[in-house]
Amino acid sequence: MKNCLFCKIIDGSIPSKKAYEDEKILAFYDINPQAPVHILVIPKEHIGSADEIDEKNSATISYIFEKIPVIAKNAGITNGYRIISNCGDDACQSVHHLHFHILGGAQLADKMA
Ligand code: AMP
Ligand code: ZN
Repeated sequence: MKNCLFCKIIDGSIPSKKAYEDEKILAFYDINPQAPVHILVIPKEHIGSADEIDEKNSATISYIFEKIPVIAKNAGITNGYRIISNCGDDACQSVHHLHFHILGGAQLADKMA
């Protein structure tokens, strides 16, 4: 999608530090990490947010969740991690291409918000 930051990361016109890539998904390190390991996992297909998950694209979402344990382990996370997807304005979603944050590598705060 034109003018989508993460579609530009997928097509390589904006650089990223990749953690994992295959034909369906890309994982890359967050530019402003909130934990020692902070990776974003995105579908290569443009989906605006978790609010746009439906029966046509849900197989890609389940595929992402199959790969998250592999991505976390390969990134050196050994003692648990948090998966977050900010969805919409009240959740402060800033990039409108569905992404799952993987946060780990240290004890995280016990509050979610
Ligand atoms: P959210 O606020 O949940 O929409 O998350 C968007 C995330 O994208 C933030 O954690 C940003 O730090 C991250 N981000 C923005 N631009 C880039 C970039 N060029 N490369 C890597 N991460 C980015
Ligand atoms: Zn996009």
